[in-house]
Amino acid sequence: SFGLEDKVAIVTGGASGIGEASTRRLISAGAKVCIVDMDGNAAEKLAGEIGSRATAIVADISDPADVERATQAALSAFGRIDLLHSNAGIIGEPGPIAGASAANFDRVFSVNVRSAVLMIGAVVPEMRRQGGGSIVITASVGGIRPSPGLGIYAASKLALVALAKTAAVELGVDNIRVNAIAPGLTDTPAFRATRQIPAGEDEGIFDNVALPLGRVGSPAEVANMVAWLFGDEASYVTGGLYHVDGGLGV
Ligand code: NAD
Repeated sequence: SFGLEDKVAIVTGGASGIGEASTRRLISAGAKVCIVDMDGNAAEKLAGEIGSRATAIVADISDPADVERATQAALSAFGRIDLLHSNAGIIGEPGPIAGASAANFDRVFSVNVRSAVLMIGAVVPEMRRQGGGSIVITASVGGIRPSPGLGIYAASKLALVALAKTAAVELGVDNIRVNAIAPGLTDTPAFRATRQIPAGEDEGIFDNVALPLGRVGSPAEVANMVAWLFGDEASYVTGGLYHVDGGLGV
């Protein structure tokens, strides 16, 4: 497998969508996972289903005090932190850039970007103490291609790519690898909500002729990339941006 046996991971937004798939994939690769999510019910339910190798940590990662508390909770649960999947994110209020509010900008950037800075700041001292670690940040094809109506979200997602590249350079000396992923259209609760697709309704809805692979992706397909980037096979991979998008970003 990937050499993730008994590695300890933090997955932010780990209770839904891509984060939930990441949690499940890392568990199946032998890791222990701290599910950090502001949706306490979903986090507890998922951790309960997985059992002793997972723990739910209820936190709002846009709050610096919560980030610190969540990191301490992860350490007290499993004693170390090897992997961070910085993944929680929101779209915010849709609408054109001309007309976007300061409040929406601040909310999107504090949940999507500032949280990643704070989470990296919180886990790196522990990774240094342990002699290394690995970080994966969920960006988006939406930050690479123009995203009309989602400009603030797009800007926040490209900012994460910049963070990943610079953090990779700064942390290489500490044997900490940092990479970003760019999912495309992925069938998650957030994706269904923005398109008003009812849960469970699948027939034909995810066919998409505009995509080279002709369909929307699954969260599990994104999680496979996360597990690979965390694993030993990616030991010389840092500062990269990996599309998992069925060709959307070409
Ligand atoms: P989702 O809404 O299904 O899951 C996100 C999870 O994050 C939820 O459990 C939510 O409670 C949690 N969360 C949100 N804000 C939080 C906060 N402040 N503190 C703690 N937890 C918080 O969304 P998803 O579609 O799985 O998206 C996950 C990530 O993937 C996001 O960063 C998103 O931008 C990115 N992404 C998604 C798609 C897609 O098509 N679904 C495409 C590209 C990128």
